[in-house]
Amino acid sequence: MKETPTEAQIASHRLMLRAGMIRQSSAGIYSWLPMGFRVLRNIEQIVREEQDRAGAQEMLMPTIQSAELWRKSGRYDDYGKEMLRIIDRGERELLYGPTNEELITDIFASSVRSYRDLPKNLYHIQWKFRDEIRPRFGVMRGREFLMKDAYSFDLEKEGAEQSYLKMFVAYLRTFARLGLRAVPVQADPGAIGGNMSHEFHILADTGESDLYFDAAFEEYTAEQMLKADFGMVKDLRGLYAAADEKHDAANCPVPDGQLRQRKGIEVGHIFYFGTKYSAPMGAAVTSSTGEQVNVEMGSYGIGVSRLVGAIIEASHDEKGIIWPESVAPWKAALINLRYGDAECTAAADGLYEKFQNAGVATLYDDRDERPGVKFADADLIGIPWHVTVGPRGVKAGVVEFKNRATGETVEITPEAALNRLAVKA
Ligand code: ATP
Ligand code: MG
Repeated sequence: MKETPTEAQIASHRLMLRAGMIRQSSAGIYSWLPMGFRVLRNIEQIVREEQDRAGAQEMLMPTIQSAELWRKSGRYDDYGKEMLRIIDRGERELLYGPTNEELITDIFASSVRSYRDLPKNLYHIQWKFRDEIRPRFGVMRGREFLMKDAYSFDLEKEGAEQSYLKMFVAYLRTFARLGLRAVPVQADPGAIGGNMSHEFHILADTGESDLYFDAAFEEYTAEQMLKADFGMVKDLRGLYAAADEKHDAANCPVPDGQLRQRKGIEVGHIFYFGTKYSAPMGAAVTSSTGEQVNVEMGSYGIGVSRLVGAIIEASHDEKGIIWPESVAPWKAALINLRYGDAECTAAADGLYEKFQNAGVATLYDDRDERPGVKFADADLIGIPWHVTVGPRGVKAGVVEFKNRATGETVEITPEAALNRLAVKA
């Protein structure tokens, strides 16, 4: 889009529309256009790899669920207007799933019988629907959105705590790989009590939550987060972090100079809830002593589609998006500066083929456009590395090699450009 869309109030929404990543189909419901879809899939893949690494197993549950299941847990009435309810031709009541505790518990109850099959953690990455009162900020608060939701099953509370810690570690690693600094904030544990409920927030001025936290969080580097273990989780849980409804200035343990106040975007939530669903839905296993025991459960969500917006909120400038390499739609933009010039075009075509053979994900800008337009578009869509082939450079045997994040530009040979991109793959 050439014009700045007027309906978009925040940077990520504006940039996603201008860059052609998404298109609104109705309020809070979006189509993912090719570039947006590439980013969404890259994020999804990192989330998946870290879930797998933590020992969770991927499956896929449907978007449409039966009302009957939700009546068993008592949530069919409780959920209220956020739930999209559907009647089929046989007058059966269905709904578009806003989350999956009921369905997974039902699957577990009918498939797992013995304590020997525990612990177990099952997840899927599936579209959800919540009829939000105020869908806004593009994909950040959509009505239809992509969520990763995992569910753990353990025989006892101690096991459930281990499952919880594993997910905590997986989340720290996931957000670090996405190029984000996420602050774990203790959240409301509901009726169950305790302290096993954490929301993970990205710091950004456009966040909807007010956070208060210990400045010590800012000292953790991405490298440290990638090495996260139970010990680090313990340290992080020992640091103060609260959302405004829980923060009490008079009783805050952190001294003024050490307390940070920032806005946060919730990108994940992990939650232990004991037998809240297993008891009413009959998810019990036989213990080693032959008793029937309701399983201890937890659920672990990540807002995959919200993350696309959240990453942009955390990483952009006045020219456009700055993608972390791990999620970028393409690693390199190859810009042919002079479309009409046969020599220049032959050089750019040749380089594109080499990039492809080397497995460097490349967007080739071979449009008949002015250089200024091409540079501005490459900056707007935020591709990490820009390789520009122009007539003068072709004669001298060099290309321009630019880092989108720093703006630093060097002239190097095409081979050197290829090496730098291929090595970093
Ligand atoms: P929020 O307080 O932002 O409404 P929530 O507490 O309702 O979130 P959960 O039920 O914990 O969210 O869902 C897990 C994750 O799904 C959230 O951490 C968030 O990242 C994402 N999410 C929730 N609602 C939406 C939405 N309307 N659009 C996009 N992502 C969402
Ligand atoms: Mg919500």
